[in-house]
Parts: sequence; C-alpha cells; structure tokens
Amino acid sequence: MSYHPPMTGLDTTLHDLVHNAVDGKPVSRATALAMLGDDMPLLPLAHAAGLVRRHHFGNRVQVHVLNNVQNGACPEDCGYCGQAKTSDAPIQAYKLKSREEILDEAEQAARSGAFRYCMVLSGRGPSDSDIDHMADCIREVKERYGIQTCLSSGLMDADKARRLADAGLDRLNHNLNTSAGHYPSICTTHTYGDRVETLRAAREAGLSLCSGMIVGMGEAKADVVEVAAAARDLRIDSIPVNFLVPIPGNDVVQPSIADATLTPAFCVRVLCMFRFMNPDAEVRVAAGREGHLRSLQALAMEPANSLFVDGYLLTRGDGPLPTLRMLRDAGFDIELEGAEWNEAVRTLVSNGALDTFALDEQVPSDLAVLKEDRLSERKLAKLRIT
Ligand code: SF4
Repeated sequence: MSYHPPMTGLDTTLHDLVHNAVDGKPVSRATALAMLGDDMPLLPLAHAAGLVRRHHFGNRVQVHVLNNVQNGACPEDCGYCGQAKTSDAPIQAYKLKSREEILDEAEQAARSGAFRYCMVLSGRGPSDSDIDHMADCIREVKERYGIQTCLSSGLMDADKARRLADAGLDRLNHNLNTSAGHYPSICTTHTYGDRVETLRAAREAGLSLCSGMIVGMGEAKADVVEVAAAARDLRIDSIPVNFLVPIPGNDVVQPSIADATLTPAFCVRVLCMFRFMNPDAEVRVAAGREGHLRSLQALAMEPANSLFVDGYLLTRGDGPLPTLRMLRDAGFDIELEGAEWNEAVRTLVSNGALDTFALDEQVPSDLAVLKEDRLSERKLAKLRIT
C-alpha cells in the first residue's frame, strides 16, 4: 500500500521534512532540536509527524500489555528504577516465574489473539541458567502458540543472545534510557557502552531490537536528540518512549528537563522528533503517558503508533476501556497485542460499543450525568417505582 501523504497546508519546512522522512531520510540533529523548541508550532508538527507515521503504519495503533516474569532484588543502581538496590520503593520482589507460570500466561496471551508476548526480568543480566530457562520457555511458546516473543532481561553477551535467538526469540528489549553523556548521572553500576554492546550482540544474533528512553531524568534537550540519533544509528525497530514517573524511594524522582519544561506539549514534541529521526520505526508511548500527556494523549498518537495499557513494570496506567476509547475517539484503528485480552474488551473493540456516550469506565447509567446535589429525592423515589 503506497500512501502518498497529502502535503497541502504544510509550510515548506514541514513539507520537506515529511517528504524526506517518507523517503527514509531522517532529520538532522539541529532540526530535531528545533522540534523540541516553541518556534515550531505544535499542531502542524504533530500533523506532519502523523503523515510520516501513516506512510509506514497506516492508521493502526498497537496496544501492548507487559508481563513481569521476575521482579525486584536487582544489584544495579539505576536511579529511576524501583527494583534497584539503592531504591526504597516498597515493591514486592519475586523470583523468576516457573516454566508452567510463564507458559500459562503465554497461553492466555495466545488465546486472546496476542501478536507478541513480552516477558521482563529484573536484574543486571540473565545467568546461564536463566538463559536456559527462558530459552526452554520461548521454544515451547513458539511451538505451542506460534506468537512473537520479546524478552527484556538486562545486559548480555553474544553467546547468550544467540542461544535465545536459536530458541526462537524474535525481539530483545534493552533501553538506552538516556544519552551517553547523561548516563553516569542515572546509573554507576554499568555504562551506556554496556547497553550498546548488548544491543549489538542481539543484532548480531539476528534478533529484532526494541530500545527506548526515559524522558525527564534531568537531561537536556540535546540528550533527548542524542538518544533518537543513537536509535537511528543502531537501526532500532521498536522505540518505547517513557516519561519519568516519580516513584517514592527512588534516587531519580522529580521529572525534569534541564533546559525546558516537561509539559504535555513538550512530550508530544519529543514523540514527533523520534518519528522524524526514525521514520519507519515503531514509536511507542510507554510509561508516564497518562500523567504527563494528559489531555494530549490522542495527539501523541499522531507520531506514535503503539502504547501500553494496564500499567507498566511497577507503575499504574489506565485500563483498556479509557485507553481504547481515547484511540477510537481520535479515529485510530486498534490492534490488540500482548496478554490477557478478555472477550469483553475484544467485543467492545469490534462492535463499536466504545463509540457510545460515556462519562466514565463503567457503562453509564443515564442518571450519572446529573450532579448529585441537584437530585430530588422525591423524583428519584418516583423513578425507582416506575
Ligand atoms: S533498570 Fe533493570 S538493571 Fe536497572 S535497577 Fe532496574 S531492574 Fe536493575
């Protein structure tokens, strides 16, 4: 399907940017930086980014669910992570799930029509026995259910990456998280270079790569651009863009950008910049969507073509209904990915029930539209009788 973006209404700069991006020519660092500033009007920028996204992904939005197969007790000190040894965040640690548990959850994912099953292990990196365990599970998931598999398990060398690829793993997630220059400010127990080495090892093993960042850890706009450029240079297939969620007890708590304000508009600009820097990559709105983008969530889906529901590794997020309604209201086609999509949600997506008038998550009762302190008990009583 060749999609020729309608370029009418775009100023020459945006017109050229869209043209180049559609031809696979990413923007320069200088232009990327300009996208993070107020000189470039937000709505035309988001519209232009949407044209590039539709050239590669049409009007579709992939909706993902995350599955944590090992939690907490990590020897690393990543300042933004509630699982770090330095964090006092009150999270429940649990060991690597058993083969049965992981396969059960994969079955649920497969039965509910999932395209990809994403598994996440906390920790510096998987041991040889972890690799054997996960390789065994992945082989079985592929054999039994034939769905795509993705694993996030920390630092690893080429041998471990190859053993996972041989077992049938499709994609490896390993976020760069921030720029090389800013990395020592968020973590001291491993380096940015260690993370790049893991991605290179995975690429050599033939794995698809998923690697993104956490915006709002005190970095500068130029650092955000550096991560987008690194993703382009490493030919990353899928880029989750997180916005820092303040977890009490962590070292890096207060979301901030050194030379800008982390407003919903700025977050949309970041997503647009990632789209123009990586025109054909999957750009995913990840953690912090609800709290940072707020009323601009639908606009954020112009540059981005996927998101998570039901929360993130440690933090809450909106459930399926408000998220799917937001997508449908904005006119996007919904692709349900990942685990545990119950039939009710599938039906809502397919039969248009998402399109009816709604005040909140629950299917509305018609009285809910009235302010409680305006209700007349007498008339209510009459209504109840009838
Ligand atoms: S991000 Fe990963 S490596 Fe870093 S502390 Fe958290 S679980 Fe450990």
